[in-house]
Amino acid sequence: MKCYIGLGSNLAEPLIQLQTALQQIEKEPELQLGKVSSFYQSKALILPDAPPQNDYINAVALLETDLSAALLLQKLHKIEASQGRERNEKWGARTLDLDILLYGDLHIQTKILTIPHAQMQYRNFVLHPLFEIAGAIDIPGLGSLSEMAQKIAWDGLKKLTKH
Ligand code: ADP
Ligand code: MG
Repeated sequence: MKCYIGLGSNLAEPLIQLQTALQQIEKEPELQLGKVSSFYQSKALILPDAPPQNDYINAVALLETDLSAALLLQKLHKIEASQGRERNEKWGARTLDLDILLYGDLHIQTKILTIPHAQMQYRNFVLHPLFEIAGAIDIPGLGSLSEMAQKIAWDGLKKLTKH
């Protein structure tokens, strides 16, 4: 199955966190790493009244896997944990966040998974890097990625020079 995942970090050397995560993915026999987007810098999403946070580094990567979406999520959580991810408050700062954006063209809605990722259509740090590597795909239930990427403002998002 072709999957797209989103990577994000805003703690403890975010660039290195993303590079390490990609290396860990490459080492997993059940995951084949495909295209990786540029790295992007984005302003943290914070809840009202929450203290300010460091900017994020974000990227999107293509993976090929035979794992189910639930097992893929487990693998991604294991990689997050190995890089010191702690789950505290919602939308808190994190060393590494790995989200499944798309799993083939499937719709998945379970207790642990919503695919396509529930927030992806609102997030410039997902749509722009995804468009960079996936181009003119249709997102199940949402429509044309290129139209969505054209419509969403950059608004503080910066594409960094290719790593
Ligand atoms: P967030 O990414 O929303 O900031 P977390 O990374 O802590 O927060 O994830 C919280 C939970 O979101 C996970 O334990 C997972 O079960 C659930 N989840 C639902 N859909 C997805 C998805 N598409 N990708 C990753 N996690 C998801
Ligand atoms: Mg997550």
